Amino acid sequence: MIEEPGPLPVENGLAKEVLAAINPDEIISFLQDLIRVPSVNPPGDVRAAIAVCEGPLAHAGFSIRRESMEETKPNLIAEFGEASGPTLCFNAHVDVVPTGEVSAWKHAPFGADLVDGRVYGRGAGDDKASVTAQVMAGVALARSGVPLRGQLIVNEVADEETSGVAGAAFIVAEGHVQPDWVIVGEQTLNRVCVGEKGLAGTEVTVLGRASHGALPWEGANAIVGIARIIEALRTELLPELAHRTHPYFHPSSASVNTITGGVKSNVVPDRCSIYIDRRLIPGEEPEESVDEIRRIAETALADIPELRVETRSASEGRAATMSDPDSDLVQAMLSANRHLGLATDLSGFSMASDGRFFAAAGHPTIIYGPGDPRLAHVPDEWVGVDEVLDATRAYALAALRLIGGAA
Ligand SMILES: [Zn+2]
Repeated sequence: MIEEPGPLPVENGLAKEVLAAINPDEIISFLQDLIRVPSVNPPGDVRAAIAVCEGPLAHAGFSIRRESMEETKPNLIAEFGEASGPTLCFNAHVDVVPTGEVSAWKHAPFGADLVDGRVYGRGAGDDKASVTAQVMAGVALARSGVPLRGQLIVNEVADEETSGVAGAAFIVAEGHVQPDWVIVGEQTLNRVCVGEKGLAGTEVTVLGRASHGALPWEGANAIVGIARIIEALRTELLPELAHRTHPYFHPSSASVNTITGGVKSNVVPDRCSIYIDRRLIPGEEPEESVDEIRRIAETALADIPELRVETRSASEGRAATMSDPDSDLVQAMLSANRHLGLATDLSGFSMASDGRFFAAAGHPTIIYGPGDPRLAHVPDEWVGVDEVLDATRAYALAALRLIGGAA
């Protein structure tokens, strides 16, 4: 029973019809077919992977189009239902990161081995499990013949793993879809993520004075300055960020992830830089976060006048995104999980997803999909078959709740 009190109740009978149209064997073999089409980015050629997605959707009655900024990076827009009604868009990406050293894999990266209920391969989880569940949920909805008062768009895109510029960003910027709701498929372990963290990558550079390494007192050592700043960030910034918590998100965070400095073993360095990967929870602003680091860095070197410090924004700066937990979109996904006995607590996505483009353009967006984010981008990436089947059912039920029923 869907016992959800929300505004768009779904008849139990319709839910049953949609779930009955889901075929587990078909889903597993679709996932395997998709993994066996390498769509490694870079270079990011996804033409074959998009063709795999088009087949079953076209067969189920979806109208199919491709929108591309680059010839090798087509984006699929498959539409079904009542275009004059409300529109739900499923979005996930078909490109995958490179395999890394293939000898580190026990399973062939593009073999799609099925062992003990797991499917292995590059992209098994990130993000072909979500693509599979979205495509198959769309097929089930169409095949079931349930009445629809709205439209479903299945939008599988290129280019997520490099920037999204030719993928979701292009689709949103050009207005190729105009959804009322967006469900982005990424690895959330089938938990409902109301949004994603923001980003404020920050570069701190210390400028000193070079001298002969044998005459260090003649110089001003920039590496020593950076060491002080790293320590100040550890003792002042990190404890503060640990206190910035949120009911749905991991706490605010910062991590010094690259360091560049020094020119030669016998030269006192006049320059050293670090990159701080700063992730924001809702309520934090990118510019303020950079300023906060600037103040700590300048204070740390205040008593060494020979060292100068420069702090600047070094990434796309963006605030966290978040959908209203009481919205129809969030409640539809939650009610699907409740119907299926899956997790019903809300959470936030710690990484970046294509959802940021939709959210920034004002489309209510959540993130939901099978797979564990800790298995993404590693050797022997895998996803559990059960998770993919659950996600397929959950997407289908959420869609039914949002766009199903007589017009
Ligand atoms: Zn992904």
